[in-house]
Amino acid sequence: MTNSDWAEKDFYKALGVSKDASAADIKKAYRKLARANHPDSHPGDKTAEDRFKAVAEAYDVVGDPEKRKQYDEMRSMFAGGFGPFQGGRTTTGGQPFDVDDFLRSQGGGSFGDIFGTMFGGGGARTRRATRRGADLESEATVGFTEALDGVTVSLRLSSDAPCPQCNGTGARAGTVPKVCPQCEGAGMVAASMGGAFTMNETCPTCRGRGLVVEDPCPACHGSGRGVSNRTISARIPAGVKDGQRIRLRGKGAPGENGGPNGDLYVTVHVSAHRLFGRKGDNLSLTVPISFDEAALGAEIKVPTLNGAPVTLKMPAGTPNGRTFRIRGRGAPRSGKRSTGHSSDARGDLLVTVEVQVPAVLSEDARAAVEAYQAATAGSDLRANLFAGGRG
Ligand SMILES: [Zn+2]
Ligand SMILES: [Zn+2]
Repeated sequence: MTNSDWAEKDFYKALGVSKDASAADIKKAYRKLARANHPDSHPGDKTAEDRFKAVAEAYDVVGDPEKRKQYDEMRSMFAGGFGPFQGGRTTTGGQPFDVDDFLRSQGGGSFGDIFGTMFGGGGARTRRATRRGADLESEATVGFTEALDGVTVSLRLSSDAPCPQCNGTGARAGTVPKVCPQCEGAGMVAASMGGAFTMNETCPTCRGRGLVVEDPCPACHGSGRGVSNRTISARIPAGVKDGQRIRLRGKGAPGENGGPNGDLYVTVHVSAHRLFGRKGDNLSLTVPISFDEAALGAEIKVPTLNGAPVTLKMPAGTPNGRTFRIRGRGAPRSGKRSTGHSSDARGDLLVTVEVQVPAVLSEDARAAVEAYQAATAGSDLRANLFAGGRG
């Protein structure tokens, strides 16, 4: 049982009695309804069970003279256009007041501001302002392939929320803030300015809130503020890059009083791939080749990320470190509509060859390399390093 529920729920209605019913009538109504909806008489009937709980909850409050008094005060404070500030204490009906929303709209606990606004505006009825929810920040780590194809991730988000212990009222669970004895809930008191002049000023006892917390909630020390954690699923778009910050519209903190949700910004970390690197829409791959393949030319089989291997035709005399471009075998192009040509839908695969030198030679291989050496003895690769002196 929390205080905000008190403002939201009509316990008299739950018991089917009028607001000024006598204690005896309330007790009678409770007994009748409790008997009629008792779970023992309705095994497995969820509706009867809920009704029984609602009746018990209502009686727990309005069946207790002290709690009933607090409840009546609470409702007259919060129901129908801020009853007390319109000059009367009676409930006038209308929208039930939601303490949670209200406190949230006040940044979590101060009634003062909005009441101040009300009085500043000449006591006109103040509508609860809609407010856009806050933007939130989060991070996600996705796999290399997931980043290329897009992926849905679960994100745990923390945002400001009313204290769950007291539902944002700041009062210990089971108690309610009391109407301020100095200003009687008005939040303002008349101060003499000397002579015949008086001015309204913010009530020093409740600091304009109109309510005082006698027994502060131990969880939030009376501030009414807390943190809410929730888990949402978010779609990371295809082609996201490592370190990119993406904006998910409407996935931030909920709006207040019908205001739009804030946005969520997610910084995405992309895991490295065992083979492939990525430069924008292009993928890169380093492929080892042998000296003879480089010298004589070769057709080598190259893996691709998303399909069957492709054959790369390497010409004779390919230098170490040359990069070959294989069109349309890169990453899906991000931020561009496909033009219908399949090679435009993806970037390219950039294959860099790396000539490997054998660490160990078999006897035959050694003989062959020595024969090669003998056959090319006339050429000096380093001749031009020493030609022409310094410069
Ligand atoms: Zn006061
Ligand atoms: Zn609290």
